[in-house]
Amino acid sequence: MDTKNLGFDSKLIHAGDFHDEYGSAVTPIYQTSTFSFKSAQHGADCFSGKDKGYIYTRIGNPTINALENKLAELENGYRGVALASGMAAVTTAYMTFLEKGAHMISTGAVYGPSRAVIESHFQKFGVEATFTDTSVLENIENAIKPNTKLLYLETPANPTIQLTDIRRASEIAHKHGIIVVVDNTFSSPYLQKPLDLGADVALHSLTKFINGHADIVGGALIAKDEDVYNKIRKTMTYMGGNMDPHQAYLVIRGVKTLSLRIDRAQESAMKVARYLENHPKIEWIKYPGLESFEQHELAKEQMTGFGSMISFGVKGGHRAGEIIMDNVHLATLAVSLGGVETLIQHPSSMTHAAVSKEDKLAAGITDGLVRFSVGIEDVNDIIADLDHALAMV
Ligand SMILES: *Cc1c(COP(=O)(O)O)cnc(C)c1O
Repeated sequence: MDTKNLGFDSKLIHAGDFHDEYGSAVTPIYQTSTFSFKSAQHGADCFSGKDKGYIYTRIGNPTINALENKLAELENGYRGVALASGMAAVTTAYMTFLEKGAHMISTGAVYGPSRAVIESHFQKFGVEATFTDTSVLENIENAIKPNTKLLYLETPANPTIQLTDIRRASEIAHKHGIIVVVDNTFSSPYLQKPLDLGADVALHSLTKFINGHADIVGGALIAKDEDVYNKIRKTMTYMGGNMDPHQAYLVIRGVKTLSLRIDRAQESAMKVARYLENHPKIEWIKYPGLESFEQHELAKEQMTGFGSMISFGVKGGHRAGEIIMDNVHLATLAVSLGGVETLIQHPSSMTHAAVSKEDKLAAGITDGLVRFSVGIEDVNDIIADLDHALAMV
């Protein structure tokens, strides 16, 4: 079935779906490392590209390809590459678009390891990077050098919920021939489509909203055009960060309910945000759906919903935040986000522990910041849980 012209919810269910000769209703798991050739000539043709047959699972596999095709349709991209984890997607993007002597510009408040891997590994190969507040477009403009090859954006950024204007940032980058990669993990294609806004690649940690059930890690890169896609595919094949067929099967199952899950979670997040905004023990709160959010207008412009990620500071700083985390019962104290269960964590000592104190403060990751991922439980229970914990402060 041609799913290209179907609505987003129909694509979630049917795009990329693979039906075998038995008429299986869902994409089967092809748990095999290798594929036999019909003849020596057929094997040679598969390797030369004349025949599109499968060769070896690191290079391609029907279950993994089904997921890649589904994600590509959801992001309005050319094709996608699925990887073992979100970080495998990040490092594959870096390996594809950076080289010795190249410079990268990135969102300051980017996912901790996306920054740490540049500083701990890529710098030793002569890659330079500028981490800056990309929500201010002049900062991007000012950071561009003759050797800038990659603009790596995360919006909303983790964990400050700061937004970057994808359309305008991409225009600036493209004037200088710079590739734009957007980590779209926090929004998923249901709420934001970076490729439609001008980016070249959309990146995902599938671990989060797309799979949505906290039972696998996975990543993906979705390319806008064939040339960018071919480069990414080649890097993945050589670096070996491919996904496993069983992992792909679970993501295909999880993503089918993406819009249902996000609709519920963001409706609840709005109520939780209003509750926190009015609580006397809350010092500040960031949620794109609140009128008090500085970039509320930009959120309305480039996103079709405000998501379910909230950051807030409790009066009393880190100690007060600790009391909240130790006294919630429904919310799970754990890193990760975007699952059906509500999660709470402390970025400064957890997800962003590897980032230096100065860099954290420059990026707005203060000691008092608590990150809250609203799940799909009964919203009254989520609020009661926070209410009980806040009473302990
Ligand atoms: C979790 C996450 C990653 C890394 O993904 P893994 O699947 O954990 O490797 C990258 N970017 C963002 C925004 C994330 O939240």
